[in-house]
Amino acid sequence: MVGTSGKSGSLFIVATPIGNLEDFSPRAQQVLSTVDLVLAEDTRHSAKLLRHFGVSTPIESLHEHNERQKLPGLLQRLQRGENLALICDAGTPLISDPGYPLVTAAHEGKIPVLAVPGPNAAVAALSISGLATARFVFEGFLPAKTAARCSRLQALGDETRTLVFYESSHRIVDSLRDMVATWGADRRATVARELTKRYETVRQDSLGHLLAWVTQDPDQQRGEFVVLVEGVSERDGQHISAEDERVLRCLLDELPHKQAVSLASKITGTSKNALYRQSLKDKDEGHLD
Ligand code: SAM
Repeated sequence: MVGTSGKSGSLFIVATPIGNLEDFSPRAQQVLSTVDLVLAEDTRHSAKLLRHFGVSTPIESLHEHNERQKLPGLLQRLQRGENLALICDAGTPLISDPGYPLVTAAHEGKIPVLAVPGPNAAVAALSISGLATARFVFEGFLPAKTAARCSRLQALGDETRTLVFYESSHRIVDSLRDMVATWGADRRATVARELTKRYETVRQDSLGHLLAWVTQDPDQQRGEFVVLVEGVSERDGQHISAEDERVLRCLLDELPHKQAVSLASKITGTSKNALYRQSLKDKDEGHLD
């Protein structure tokens, strides 16, 4: 068997395609053919993939509901010298997918854990997003309920790195709507849909335009999504001064929201984004009507 060392076996974390079967690497196929057992999130789904590539290794399920319970047995098998591979339905295991307890336990048991890298929706989307890639933060899925989602978005309001989210067809419109409400319509973002698949669509625009486009076209609400949003600039991420806040509050008392923020920015020289975020915070804290 490839890559094993010592007496114990190895645990291989193997990436599978996210839509295009040609992205299945020869090494991934070879490892899956030669290990003693493949662990998969959904055995029926993965059995089809393995059959397609002529892999006949036994396959067992490992998902969030049975992961803890199966752990001792799997560790024993690894300790006896068997090699196991973990795959998920698509992409790289453990990235918003099961496997974390198994990998942690393998490390604790001094069992080699080896990566067979390959497709991952977040990194694929980032690489084509047109947004800054030097520093980014992967947030996975936002909470399903609006209130929890908005408070997560608010907590990320000062993030200067590019933000990367996974999203489903059920919630793409709601999430974009909440991003606009929390961060304003002007922030640049990219929606990457159905990557490597037939209806792949990638579009970069302001959050407001993306929301309008996705809302108006039901086709753009189908499939799987990665949403990437530019971070605030270092200047915008800075806290605004007490004087900025005083000016902003005075103007908000007298003028419509957008106009107040714009004028406060002209008077103080502080960016509109920073003042806009502050105005939303004030609103939440009940300082404004
Ligand atoms: N482990 C996977 C990976 O490495 O990308 C992600 C698994 S997570 C359960 C599934 C989510 O990944 C989808 O809801 C979507 O947000 C994203 N995703 C997966 N495949 C995608 C694709 N082809 N295009 C866009 N997003 C995709």
